[in-house]
Parts: sequence; C-alpha cells; structure tokens
Amino acid sequence: MDVFRFACFPFLNGAVKYVEAVDFKLDELFSERAFEQVRQRGKERVLSAIGEGIAKNEYPDTVSAEKELLSYPVARILVSCINDNYLIKRYALAEAKSAYEKLKELSGDELKELAEDFSIEARLDERVVIHFTDYIRYANAIHEHRWKLVNRNMEHGNVTLTKEDFSRIMEEAIRKRIESNLPVNVPTELCEKLQSYLEDIHAALKTRKSEFSIEEFREIMPDCFPPCMVHALSNARAGMNLPHSMRFALTSFLLNIGMDAEGIIDLFKVSPDFDEERTRYQVMHIHGSTGTAYTSPSCATMITYGNCFGKEALCERISHPLTYYRRKAWMLKKEKK
Ligand code: SF4
Repeated sequence: MDVFRFACFPFLNGAVKYVEAVDFKLDELFSERAFEQVRQRGKERVLSAIGEGIAKNEYPDTVSAEKELLSYPVARILVSCINDNYLIKRYALAEAKSAYEKLKELSGDELKELAEDFSIEARLDERVVIHFTDYIRYANAIHEHRWKLVNRNMEHGNVTLTKEDFSRIMEEAIRKRIESNLPVNVPTELCEKLQSYLEDIHAALKTRKSEFSIEEFREIMPDCFPPCMVHALSNARAGMNLPHSMRFALTSFLLNIGMDAEGIIDLFKVSPDFDEERTRYQVMHIHGSTGTAYTSPSCATMITYGNCFGKEALCERISHPLTYYRRKAWMLKKEKK
C-alpha cells in the first residue's frame, strides 16, 4: 500500500509505520507553521465527526496525501485531550463511516488485503467468505435482524457475504479499533498548546449535546430520569446503536412513564441501523400490541446486563428505575411547595 491508500485508511498498521518513518519530530507537528494545515484538518475531522460526518478530502499528490494522513494522529490527540466518552464514540463512528464509503470503491483483492490488517481472513470469488467467528465478532454490534448469524447461510463454519455486507463488517472492525485505542496518553503541556483548536471542539460538543438533551420531554419530567436512562437516551439521540437489552429497557421505561410510541420511534431514527418498520413493531410489541405490555427491567436486571450507568445517591434507596423516577418527581414537587 502507498501513502494515498494510507491517507484513506490512516488507522491501518502500515499507516502508523509510515507516519513513524516520516522525517519530522512529533513536537514540530504541533508547533511549526508548516503543519498548520495539518492541524486545521485534524480539527476539522473532529468537528465534522460531531456534525454531519467526515467528508472526503482531495489529495492529488504525495505531499497533500501525507498531510491528510498526518491529520489523523492530530485528530486523535485532540479527541484525547478532551477525553469525553461521547466524543470518542462519535469520532470513532464517523471515521469508520467515512472509511466505509471508500471501502465500497476497493477491488476484491484490495479489500482482502485491508481485512488482513484486522486479522480477518477473507476468501473471494463473486462473494466474500469469512469464518463465522470473525463474522460474530463484528456483526454482533449491528442490530438489524438480517445480521443475526441464524439468518445467514453458514457452511463448514464459513459465512458468505456480498462485498457490500463485508464492507459493513469492516466498518465495524474499524470503529472498534479506533474506539478501543482512544484516549491516548497526551502530556498536559501538549493539550495546553492546542487550546485554540480545542476551544472550537468544546463549543461544538456542548451545542451537540444540548440538542439531544432530555429537555424535549418536558411533559414527562425529564429532570427525574434515572442516570441509566439519561445515559441511554443521550447515546440513542447521538445516533449510537444501543445493545438490544438497553434498547428494550429504554423503550419500556419511556412507555411506562407515558411517552407515546411515535415519539420513541422518532428517537431511534438517528440510529445507524434504523429500520422504521422493525422499530415500530418492537415498540408496539413492548407497548402491548400482542396482549402483554412490558414493564421496564429492575435495577438488578439492568446491572446483570451491564446497563446500570452513573449510579447516584438515590439509586441506593430504590430497586427499580421507575421507582427512581417516581421518587425524584415526588421530591421535586415537595421542594417546589
Ligand atoms: S441503580 Fe437502577 S436506577 Fe440507578 S442507574 Fe442503576 S439501574 Fe438505573
């Protein structure tokens, strides 16, 4: 692979080696005027990740391809200085989505070579064949029904995919790699040096978070939501895929406190794998369309499934998120009186 390929896929091991071999000191990247464009592009990567996604950049010659490649470590350092869980997830997702668009343009052989960087052995003819363990490792995070292993043809431990579906698997592998390698350890002095770049990112992040504030549910007392539901709601509104158990917990909680089904379906619209018909079916099912209306899971179940986030003082005195909500509502009313 050459620098043009690495500029497209800067998270590859080969790209890291290429950057290490470029003749400059890391310090210069963050201080020299010659690298200002690289720092700006790094900032732009992060800002676009918070916004509408990372747009493709043009790099017609080696110098501009190297600049594009170097903007990736700059972006990672900026994200690490801020060290916000939501930003890390959002950034990793945006880089992976941007890579997916480029993956779709690759030939079968190029795709196979890229997969090897992730230790995925792919066999190609018209379709792509991978071992089911590789499939599960990455398809697990995709919640659409057709991605379940039982809905795939499996022969001798192998799963056959279209090139497009395999690219989607690769997108997931890329997202996981980027997310799991963040934050990196950045010296405080370096973060201080990058303050002017970080200010814009902090501001954009604050605006973005306020857009998915639970304030929009005024009629159902958002101030009283337990921390686990605030966490799930923030992630859902930020376009992140929730695990199935958390999706169920959030949906049933919102239905139980009186939110209407349409509002909940809207909430999941920003999810990367949103399928309106399927979401509607699931929400209506939990709502009782088949005769049983579901109650949201207790704290014990939430803990078992790893869905209890941000436990606080009131959590010690309750055993159900709905009790948290009711008790908090009672406390707030009493305070007002
Ligand atoms: S203790 Fe219960 S209410 Fe509190 S965050 Fe955990 S699951 Fe939610």
